[in-house]
Amino acid sequence: MRYSKLFGKTKLTTPHDSDSVNAKYLTQAGFVDKMAAGIYNFLPLGKRVLDKIVQIIREEMNAVDGQEIAMPALHPIELWETTGRTKTADAILYRTKGAGDKDFVFAPSHEEAVTPLAAKSVQSYKDLPISVYQFQTKFRNEPRAKSGVLRGREFGMKDMYSFHATEKDMDEYYERVKQAYLNVYERCGVKAYVVEASGGIFSDKISHEFSVVTPAGEDTILVCEKCNIAQNLEVAIGKVHNPENPEEKELPMKEVKAERGPSIDESAEAHKVAPSKVLKTVVYALSGGGLIGVCIRGDLKVNEHKLAHYLGSEVRPASKDELEKIGLVAGFISPVGLPKVKGGLKHGAEVGGDEKDVKEEKHGKTALPFVADNSIRDVKNFVTGANKKNLDLVNVNLGTDFTIDDFVDLVTVDESFGCAKCGSELTETKAIEAGNIFKLGTKFSKDFDLHFTNDQGKRDFVIMGCYGIGTTRLVGTIVEASHDEKGIIWPVSVAPYQVHLISLGAQKDSEVNTAAENIYEALQMAGVEVLYDERDESAGKKFNDADLIGLPLRIVVSSRTLKEKSVEWKLRNETEGKLVKYTDAPKEIIEWVHDCDCSGAV
Ligand SMILES: [Zn+2]
Repeated sequence: MRYSKLFGKTKLTTPHDSDSVNAKYLTQAGFVDKMAAGIYNFLPLGKRVLDKIVQIIREEMNAVDGQEIAMPALHPIELWETTGRTKTADAILYRTKGAGDKDFVFAPSHEEAVTPLAAKSVQSYKDLPISVYQFQTKFRNEPRAKSGVLRGREFGMKDMYSFHATEKDMDEYYERVKQAYLNVYERCGVKAYVVEASGGIFSDKISHEFSVVTPAGEDTILVCEKCNIAQNLEVAIGKVHNPENPEEKELPMKEVKAERGPSIDESAEAHKVAPSKVLKTVVYALSGGGLIGVCIRGDLKVNEHKLAHYLGSEVRPASKDELEKIGLVAGFISPVGLPKVKGGLKHGAEVGGDEKDVKEEKHGKTALPFVADNSIRDVKNFVTGANKKNLDLVNVNLGTDFTIDDFVDLVTVDESFGCAKCGSELTETKAIEAGNIFKLGTKFSKDFDLHFTNDQGKRDFVIMGCYGIGTTRLVGTIVEASHDEKGIIWPVSVAPYQVHLISLGAQKDSEVNTAAENIYEALQMAGVEVLYDERDESAGKKFNDADLIGLPLRIVVSSRTLKEKSVEWKLRNETEGKLVKYTDAPKEIIEWVHDCDCSGAV
């Protein structure tokens, strides 16, 4: 491709509203063009990258017996009413009216299309398993479309749906697709991890996300390199470092005056103990009302996401007023000596205390349910507040001096923890979600009566899985993961062209012009994808454009290189170039492309 003829050139200025590296570079380098927030045109360079990604995914889905189909984007609303998703997905649905006042939605997902479709062909267990996929434009009414092509209102997606007779078959297929997804990311030149998804507070759905490591990622993941697994920080589990000695002898509890500030460090300082010896108690308010006390080792942090999941309610730390109402003093709270709640643990105690589950005690303390993180189990002789201002307790022991209503994993895991599986070090890194897979069970099969006759001759609902990768999002993800301060660095497998050929002084120097044209022709004949910058522009401009566009191999022909009977050869991900004999150049470039292209990408 001659650069002078290319539709969509580089721009000198950064788009003023670009809020991410991918938006900035993809726009500036002429890959995409923003029409409106979250809505992008893909220009020739961008379309070539997208097509290569699509082809890699297609090959991997075919390899797990996926069959490609194409379903409509426009769905009659009745399909969505059948699954109840006109309500549950209401916020993101684009709706429209057709002729005769009929309601339609622009689909954000295709369970509503594929399930009734499958019901027309699946009758017996002999028709299963089956797996179909498509590449399609999806619509999602994002309240905040942002981050370039990462979070669009209209976006490209590969969605696959699988149908199974048994859970076992579903589980085995799910693992195959998981591996196929990892193959996709590897072939696209990015490092991805499988992450167990948190699934939201009220969801028990089994699902996994694929996270691509990039410094500007919106998620934080904890990685164990040894197990090759990653966890989302909000739900991560790990082995707590344990400096405490569970064999330590229990001493009798004592009250001690403590003129100190409210923090754990100040408490540890006042009693000359390590922060891990302080029993930390945080009181949380539940979104539906009620309070709950949470105990954890002093050097650890409560993970509010885990707590919310456990309680089935959003939580926030209780205010000073809320604490005072139930007779607690901020900074001096502990479960020691408080009245016990009868039942109703998960609901917490009502502020004000006139609910039937809540007992007022004579000295004005209200009963509060307590849960604790497992980390407090091994610690002996805790230091903690006495539920009175400037009064502490020392030598406080679980079971002897206080009890807890329930033990749960409530700790915020960070790099100081070990891998829960192997104990190795965990590394914290930023990542972007680049795909997800779900076990759907029989939810949609029941909605659309997708059943089959099993091998016992009985009627059963089909078990379903679904598997998504945002294709346009993956274009942006690769840029986020692979760039420098000058521009994009495309992995060879998805680069729009493999070679960026530059002639310097081509217009006024016929020798340079002829030499560059000859190389261009030889490479084209050999099927190498070349972007040929033959414009009458300065060397500086052409080099900057080449760095911004980010093709893997740059070849420069100039009067200077021709004096050495050579061309300059430079890889985008290396700083130094080298000279290659002009006569050998086409052959060496062809060999280089051949060696790189082990991925089988088009
Ligand atoms: Zn591990």
